[in-house]
Amino acid sequence: MATIKLNNGHQMPQVGFGLWKVGNETCADTVYNAIKVGYRLFDGACDYGNEKEAGQGVARAIKEGLVKRSDLFLVSKLWNSFHDGPRVMPIAKKQLEDWGIDYFDLYIVHFPVSLKYVDPAVAYPPGWTAPDGSVQLSNATIQETWTAMETLVDAGLARSIGISNFQGSLILDLLRYARIRPATLQIEHHPYLVQPTLLQLAASEGIAVTAYSSFGPQSFIELDWQKAHDTPVLFEHGVVTGLAGKYGKTPAQILLRWATQRGLAVIPKSNNADRLKQNLEVTGFDLEKGELESISALDRHLRFNNPTDNQRLDKRC
Ligand code: NAD
Repeated sequence: MATIKLNNGHQMPQVGFGLWKVGNETCADTVYNAIKVGYRLFDGACDYGNEKEAGQGVARAIKEGLVKRSDLFLVSKLWNSFHDGPRVMPIAKKQLEDWGIDYFDLYIVHFPVSLKYVDPAVAYPPGWTAPDGSVQLSNATIQETWTAMETLVDAGLARSIGISNFQGSLILDLLRYARIRPATLQIEHHPYLVQPTLLQLAASEGIAVTAYSSFGPQSFIELDWQKAHDTPVLFEHGVVTGLAGKYGKTPAQILLRWATQRGLAVIPKSNNADRLKQNLEVTGFDLEKGELESISALDRHLRFNNPTDNQRLDKRC
């Protein structure tokens, strides 16, 4: 399994499994089967509402001797309504308890958006809106949140900490005060959103990048978003299907290989056993330089997952 060395020396698998939209009924089996197929990294989040079930899949695999805890790289995220400094450690501890583990390999600030605290006893996961349906912001700054994230490393609750959905200027700001630098940046990244300058900035600052929604509109078609329906499907794009034919791979594998050859980690999600397996096999062949460029040339600067886009504030992400 290819790995990426993080700026703190830890190794992160380059290909993992994303847990967003994996249903509660199937999540434990999906995680268990993914471990059986060879996945070692799981990308979870409070917001995905399936951390208990993901943990059950992990526990079964460990109990049956398929893996040890130390073979796995378990990732979770701090949700927006827990950004106030004193809220960070208690919620991380609750999430660890849900998973049934005592440390995360990586714990990420999900969005640079601070929402008002919602008591987990009232609503969990809280989502974008307060229990009364309104969107209520908190005054927590990213500096306050990041300083609390650093205490998770000090306490041994997270081996690495990272950020997600941050753009360049906010990263530069965070680096002014970070005592522990973010190990990773997780971003939407696909051929319609190529972001070369953000990738260059992350590389120059020693921050590894993980791509999410690697298949572009595909993930958002599931949510029935008009913007996704209006966008040509990448799996059917001539550039992608042409390379799939040439290399005897699926279009999904071509898209994931393009990202991994750009040095990124990927975390595709699938509930289908065959796809689960093919998505893991995306580092064993090489596209040529001109072919990588032909995929990058599909860039439309098209972002689907945008938290300030009001139409999606009531959706999970
Ligand atoms: P994805 O790009 O993994 O796409 C998922 C869609 O592609 C699903 O419809 C799935 O059925 C389909 N698919 C998967 N493999 C396929 C294959 N081989 N052939 C054909 N279709 C295939 O999108 P995603 O779920 O948005 O992103 C992956 C992961 O990234 C998530 O599960 C989550 O862990 C993470 N994520 C993080 C954020 C964030 O804000 N940090 C946001 C979105 C997703």
